[in-house]
Parts: sequence; structure tokens; C-alpha cells
Amino acid sequence: MTDCIFCKITSGDIPSYKIYEDDYTYAFLDISQVAKGHTLVVPKKHSQDLLETEPEVLAHVIKSVQKVAQMVDKALKPDGINIVQNNRTFADQSVFHLHFHIMPRYQNDIDGFGYKWQTHSDAFDADAMTALADQIKHA
Ligand code: AMP
Ligand code: ZN
Repeated sequence: MTDCIFCKITSGDIPSYKIYEDDYTYAFLDISQVAKGHTLVVPKKHSQDLLETEPEVLAHVIKSVQKVAQMVDKALKPDGINIVQNNRTFADQSVFHLHFHIMPRYQNDIDGFGYKWQTHSDAFDADAMTALADQIKHA
């Protein structure tokens, strides 16, 4: 896609800190590191997000996510790794070419790195949970 920054990166039209590349995927350092080693893995074939990606392409991408996470793990020895993938603006997607974030976590993360969410274990009672599961199951 001509206007897509990640297409321009995978084609080499704009520079990146490349970590890994194969026939289907490309991995490079995120320009705004949330923690040391924060890496993005993308398919070479453009698709907007996970929901709109062909399963065959996604299979290649997730294999590369595992491979690159293992490389980051071996090189940097983080205490943990989050894999994050945002879909649509409301879910914080800002580049509309499918990408997975590999986010190494360290006991002393860079200040301000706070990949935490709030859980609400009592927000839905058992009936509501059953109805919710049914609704999704039957979609
Ligand atoms: P998201 O908010 O999930 O869409 O993530 C997009 C990510 O792309 C952000 O973390 C940006 O820092 C990163 N990003 C944007 N432009 C570039 C670029 N030219 N090179 C590397 N990373 C980039
Ligand atoms: Zn693209």
C-alpha cells in the first residue's frame, strides 16, 4: 500500500532497525521504545489489522513473533515479555498495517512503562457470563 509506513519499511523505502526478515514477515525495533528491545513484527503483505488478515498470513506472522521473542529473550534476558496487538483507533492502533508488539519487561522498566489493565472479577454475575459466552459463541 503506497501510503503505509510499514509497507515502506518492509520494502526498504524508509530505514528501520531490522531484527529479522523472511519471505512473509519483517521485524524491526519500535522507534519509540517502551522498554529496551521493544520490537514490531509485521507481514510483508499489507492488511489493516488482525481481524482482516488472511489466516495463512497470520500463521506466518505468529511464527515470526515466537522466533523474534525467543531472539529478544536470548539477547536481552528480560524478566518477562508481553505480546501486544492493537486493533482500531479506539484500541490504540495508530499504524494501520497489522503488527505485533514484542515488549520485553524488566524488573526496573523504563519509567512510565505501565502495561497493566484493571480487572473486574465481579462485574458480571454467573447468568450474565453465561449469556455473554452464548452471544459470542453463536456469532
Ligand atoms: P500501534 O499504536 O499499536 O499502532 O503501534 C504503532 C507503533 O509503531 C508505535 O509504537 C510507534 O512507535 C511505531 N512506529 C511508528 N512509526 C515507526 C517507524 N518509522 N519505525 C519504527 N516504529 C514506528
Ligand atoms: Zn502496509
